Amino acid sequence: MEQLTLPKEKLPELLGEIGSKFELIGPKEENGFLAFRKINDPKEVNLDILLSRVPPKSLIFQQTETLFTYAKGKDSKVQTPKIDESVRVIFGIRPCDARGYDIIDPVFMGKKEGDYIDPFYTKKRNRSILIGLSCNEPDTNCFCTSFDDSPANTKHVDILFTDIGDTYFVEVVTEKGEDLIKNLSKIFSKATEKESTIRKETERAAIKAISRKMNTEGTVEKLDKMFDHEFWVETARSCIGCGICTYLCPTCHCFDIQDESTLKLGGRVRVWDSCMYEEYTHHASGHNPRPSRMNRVRNRVYHKFNYFPKNDGIFGCTGCGRCIDYCPVNIDIIEVIDKVKEANI
Ligand code: SF4
Ligand code: SF4
Repeated sequence: MEQLTLPKEKLPELLGEIGSKFELIGPKEENGFLAFRKINDPKEVNLDILLSRVPPKSLIFQQTETLFTYAKGKDSKVQTPKIDESVRVIFGIRPCDARGYDIIDPVFMGKKEGDYIDPFYTKKRNRSILIGLSCNEPDTNCFCTSFDDSPANTKHVDILFTDIGDTYFVEVVTEKGEDLIKNLSKIFSKATEKESTIRKETERAAIKAISRKMNTEGTVEKLDKMFDHEFWVETARSCIGCGICTYLCPTCHCFDIQDESTLKLGGRVRVWDSCMYEEYTHHASGHNPRPSRMNRVRNRVYHKFNYFPKNDGIFGCTGCGRCIDYCPVNIDIIEVIDKVKEANI
């Protein structure tokens, strides 16, 4: 893996060059929160706030996606939107959010031959080059290390930047990353042994700064035995079913498909949905297999910590902490899993 450095004062120059050649997306402050948006001027980029409120999954699995449109009448034609396939650089994505893509890729891009490949997700995923940024100062509710991850993990990005003082330590991880670097003017330098040591120490310090830990050992087996446990009634008691925990989760990927039409025009759109809503499982017959909030809270936990590991060999959680930060009634997923471990069966 090529190791380079970039003096911090040259970051605007780099972003300016990327923005002049490709579409550049980066973290930007918007109404007091961080959001991944198109960057028109490097000054807009904000690297001081750790996580965006809405995870960057929205750049690839869009909150609303038009699948096709049509005009009514005898000459009616169905039109599918053209998906831009030109290179797009996503700068400043955090390692846990990049890992979120890896977790949901199989859902949209298939796991084996013959699986359906969703063109909307796949084309956006393939056109995106991820330049990650290590988290030197993790937040109170970060717990990526509980999933053998690291705040400076290179595994899920094409290039990783780590702040090592006056300089960024730059690791070029994939071929996509190499191609991007080749396309840019030569403003990087080769990293020295000393800079490499500082980068490792920075990662160690960041790992040490993560104080929260989810102990997932034996969780899958324990959940197998407690589907009907009264624990779920108690756990769900305070939930108001707002769906925030799922919308803001980098691994939640449920959607609804709706047909919209006016007198002359129509279209089909895919929109984010949430298993925390009653309508989500409401059958046309009127029957609802998850009629109460208890059913829905339980399902969210089972999906991430039982079904996902059984189906995909991975927990459906990156440890980003957003659901803990934003749940209006303070339901804390780490505490829920702790209580699962403690529950008598
Ligand atoms: S379950 Fe919570 S902590 Fe885990 S990835 Fe989703 S939002 Fe982040
Ligand atoms: S964010 Fe909290 S209150 Fe809202 S649906 Fe999720 S667990 Fe329930």
